[in-house]
Amino acid sequence: MGRMEQLLRDAAQRAVRYLRGLPDRPVAASPQALARLAELDVPLPDKPMADQDVLALLDEVVGPATTAMAGPRYFGFVIGGTLPAALAANWLAGAWDQNAALNQISPGTAAVEEVALRWLVDVLGLPSGTAGGFVTGATMANLTALAAARHAVLAEVGWDVEAQGVFGAPPVTVVVGDEAHPTLLKALALLGFGRDRVTRVRADGQGRLRPTLIPALTGPAIICAQAGNVNTGAVDPLAAICAQAHTDNAWVHVDGAFGLWAAASPALRERVDGIGYADSWATDAHKWLNTPYDSGLAFVRDAAALRAAMGVSAAYLPTEGATRNPSDYTPELSRRARGVEVWAALASLGRLGLADLIERTCGYARRFARELSAAGYPVLNEVVLNQVLVSVGDAGRTARVAARIQADGVCWCGSTVWQGRPALRISVSNWSTTDEDVTRSIAAIRTAAESAG
Ligand SMILES: *Cc1c(COP(=O)(O)O)cnc(C)c1O
Repeated sequence: MGRMEQLLRDAAQRAVRYLRGLPDRPVAASPQALARLAELDVPLPDKPMADQDVLALLDEVVGPATTAMAGPRYFGFVIGGTLPAALAANWLAGAWDQNAALNQISPGTAAVEEVALRWLVDVLGLPSGTAGGFVTGATMANLTALAAARHAVLAEVGWDVEAQGVFGAPPVTVVVGDEAHPTLLKALALLGFGRDRVTRVRADGQGRLRPTLIPALTGPAIICAQAGNVNTGAVDPLAAICAQAHTDNAWVHVDGAFGLWAAASPALRERVDGIGYADSWATDAHKWLNTPYDSGLAFVRDAAALRAAMGVSAAYLPTEGATRNPSDYTPELSRRARGVEVWAALASLGRLGLADLIERTCGYARRFARELSAAGYPVLNEVVLNQVLVSVGDAGRTARVAARIQADGVCWCGSTVWQGRPALRISVSNWSTTDEDVTRSIAAIRTAAESAG
């Protein structure tokens, strides 16, 4: 034990040093740090390396080549940091090393995950009784929830898709908005629906699916709506979509990878009005809830549909009796107990802290928009959540400005093309971002934009 203890203390010390340095280091890894990665490029050694040397190599060579994503001025993609309680819970759960598949073998983590699911259904305003599963991210959450949808709409017409597959099945109409996330289409492809076979509905200037353009649906049908467009943050008109879909007996799935969290804020809840009328939802915990990677959540109103799609049975596996087996709700059998971190994040924030996290980051997004547009850089989106699209010129200039921001290292933003218009993307998703961080980042963005030719 002495050796293990020594090593864990060493790891804790190194981790603390890393975290302490986060606010002050350049956000992107330096060219020197990237060059040192070549030191890793050796054949697998024959002889064991001492544990403390393994750790030192990681800390000294890999650590500096990381991006300060966990820090307060990373605004790329939609990337949160890690709340202190969530990171600490991740370490502890790592030590527990539970296989979270089955209640019988890991009752503690099964219980904590069940409570976390109940809290989430409550705080996100989902219908009571909604079932859920802990998966790796929104891609897998979309896949999981849509597998339940596929089960339900085909069972309705007498087809057992788990047994018979999709070949020869009654056709399922799948409707997606033009601005659906590419991973939603990937999930549909994995389920046999085909990326190009789906019915695409035109979106408006913010990326919202227009419900009036959804065709009349007959037979098995699934409509994929979105809460939180990855560029604009826009939310589809969920109440209208659900009302229309349900008159046609269609299933509504919502990709709410980050946007679903608006439901946890009394001030922003109206932005996702109608969310509770849908049939399934996908979201991420590793984005706006600020848990460590990898952590996504699938929710399905009809628990039996999710169990039918995901359940496994075999003589050596305990069957679900009075207790819930987590693996009956996810694609994976063996997996880590990532729900422990979700529980820890929720417990450490409380209802008020969660609302504050969501509202605070949205407030910073509005501040970016206000001050950058006042400085002469038009904002292309209505800033309804935490995403801001800032125009700094044509594609070439936008790329140069983004490269300058990243090389300068005060903050990190990427670029995108929104409906034909190049833009910088700013996503404010980190719990630790402060007013001062936003002030410094706006100044850095302005300097880069002014000096890029
Ligand atoms: C990020 C995102 C995804 C994919 O999530 P992962 O966690 O990366 O799998 C899907 N949909 C939307 C709207 C997203 O923002």
